[in-house]
Amino acid sequence: MRIFISYTIISFFLASAVFSDEKPGRNFADLPDVDDGYNIHVMYVLPKDGVDKGYDLDSKISMLMYQIDKWFNSKTKDRLFTDGQNLKFDRKDDNKIDITFLRLDINDDEISKHGIQAVNVLQPAISRFGFNDPKKVYFIIYGGSNRDVCASSQLPSYATEGVTANTAALYYPGKRSGSCIENNGGFKPEFNETAKAALHEILHVLGAVPQCAEDHLVFKDEGTINDGIGGHLSIPGDIMYSVQSNKTYDKAKHLDFKSSNYYNHNNENCLDIAKSRYVLPTVSNPQLPTFSSK
Ligand SMILES: [Zn+2]
Repeated sequence: MRIFISYTIISFFLASAVFSDEKPGRNFADLPDVDDGYNIHVMYVLPKDGVDKGYDLDSKISMLMYQIDKWFNSKTKDRLFTDGQNLKFDRKDDNKIDITFLRLDINDDEISKHGIQAVNVLQPAISRFGFNDPKKVYFIIYGGSNRDVCASSQLPSYATEGVTANTAALYYPGKRSGSCIENNGGFKPEFNETAKAALHEILHVLGAVPQCAEDHLVFKDEGTINDGIGGHLSIPGDIMYSVQSNKTYDKAKHLDFKSSNYYNHNNENCLDIAKSRYVLPTVSNPQLPTFSSK
């Protein structure tokens, strides 16, 4: 028994030595909010055995969020607000994005093998470390692999009672073939495939596309690699269009351009991203991602 304990202690110190995650400028906690607390909190999350690439420190993640937000703003101009809207990221008092670093207690294989469902492993995993603020949604840049996909999200309107659905994830580099990085992807100063994938999943976790949308698409085929049960639009070219996840983002250039499905529509009892609590400017009586979607 004594030998076992010693071995455990030595292993712990070895692990600590190999993964010295402490770096200048890195935050391990969600910093105090400068807004009302309803925001999209961004995290750089590594598996237990993951290699720290410092994406939270070298502006890679900030640049990705900037590209996503710039596109979202351009597509929302002259709609509900003349100047458009922005995604409401959790920011610091210097207006930079508050990115939290977290190393998990789970190895990459245990996450990667779940494919599109890996986000359902990540959500309870970060929650165990206290990242479960009921006001927030979480966007994870996961620094590991994924057997099947580049990104995936939980769908709040499909969550069964008692299950938390507040997390979307980008797996970086993700799957081995056709990963986030290949095919004009990766962290680059442009709205490329990686940025499209990330925004698609963020819009999912904010509640899009609601089932009550007139062009809502539900997959009939089971067992295909897709986002599964719903949440998509049947209009090709829309950021929320999907045939299969690996084809989704190819020609994404619209954000509900008809204003009839999930952005700035007239269907009052159906979720509308323009009225979300997680966009700026925020309307006076904003909606949560679980707002009527059926
Ligand atoms: Zn999707």
